[in-house]
Amino acid sequence: MDTLNNKLIESKNLTYKVNDKFLINDISIQINQGDIVSIIGPNGSGKSTLMKLFSGEINPTNGYIKIQNKFINEWDMISLAKERSILSQTNNLSFPFKVIDIVKMGRYPYFNDQNNNHKICELLIRKFDLKDYINRNYTTLSGGEKQRVHLARVFSQIWSDNFESKVVLLDEPTSFLDIKHQFMLFKFLFELNLKGLTVIMVLHDINQAIDVSKKIIMLKDSQLLNFSNEKDCITTNNLKKLFDIDLDIVTSNKLDKKIITFKN
Ligand code: ADP
Ligand code: MG
Repeated sequence: MDTLNNKLIESKNLTYKVNDKFLINDISIQINQGDIVSIIGPNGSGKSTLMKLFSGEINPTNGYIKIQNKFINEWDMISLAKERSILSQTNNLSFPFKVIDIVKMGRYPYFNDQNNNHKICELLIRKFDLKDYINRNYTTLSGGEKQRVHLARVFSQIWSDNFESKVVLLDEPTSFLDIKHQFMLFKFLFELNLKGLTVIMVLHDINQAIDVSKKIIMLKDSQLLNFSNEKDCITTNNLKKLFDIDLDIVTSNKLDKKIITFKN
C-alpha cells in the first residue's frame, strides 16, 4: 500500500501543559495510513500523554490534532469511536463484570447491529484466547488475562471488513502478557495491518519495537527527539540521548535486524 501521501493523523505544535509543566511540548508529526509506529522513551517522557492527545481523550493546551484531515474536536463521539480505539496503560475496572460483557462494551457504537456484534465478539474472544473465561468475573482474572480482555474490547470497537481508515492506539499492550500471547498479539496486528489498519503503540522493550515497527518515535522530556524509520532512528547516538546510558547495537545477519544490548 502506498502510504506516502496518505496521512491519517497529523499533529501541529501539539502541546499539553499542566500547572506550567510541559507534558508534551510542541510536537508536529504525521502518521500515515498503514504505518506501524512505536513510541519509546524514558519513564515520564510523555508517551501516555501523547497517546491520550492522539485519541482525543485529553485536549491540547496549544496546537492541534487532525484525524483523517478533520480536527479531532469536530468529530462526533460515535463516528470517532468507530475509527480509532485506545488501550490505556491502566485499565482498572473494579466492578464484577463478566468478561463477555466487557468485550461487548467495545460494540457500543454499533448498538443497532446486534447480530454482527455477537459474531465479532465471539471472533475476538477466540483471537485473544478467552473462550474459557467468557462468564468469569473480570476482577478474579490474572493481570495477563485482564489485559487480553481489554485488547479484545479495543479491537471489537473498530472491527470492520475494511481497516483502511482505522487506527488503534495501544499503550504498553504487552504488559502482563506471556510470550505466547505477545506473539499472538503481534501476529494479529500484522494481519490487520495488511488489511490497512494503522497501529500506534508504546513499547518498553526497544528490541521488540525494532522487531515489530515500521517507524519509531523517540520521546524525551516531553519533546520529539526523533521520528523516522527504524534504520535511521535506532543509532547508538540517539539511544544515548534518549536514555542517558551507553547501549551497544549488534547486527544480526540471520535476522537482518539490530539488537540492543547493555554495553559491557
Ligand atoms: P510516560 O507514559 O512516558 O511514562 P506520562 O505521559 O504518563 O509518561 O507522564 C509524563 C509526565 O507527566 C510524568 O512525569 C507524569 O508524572 C506527569 N503527569 C502526567 N499526568 C499529569 C497530571 N495530570 N498532572 C501533573 N503531572 C502529570
Ligand atoms: Mg506511560
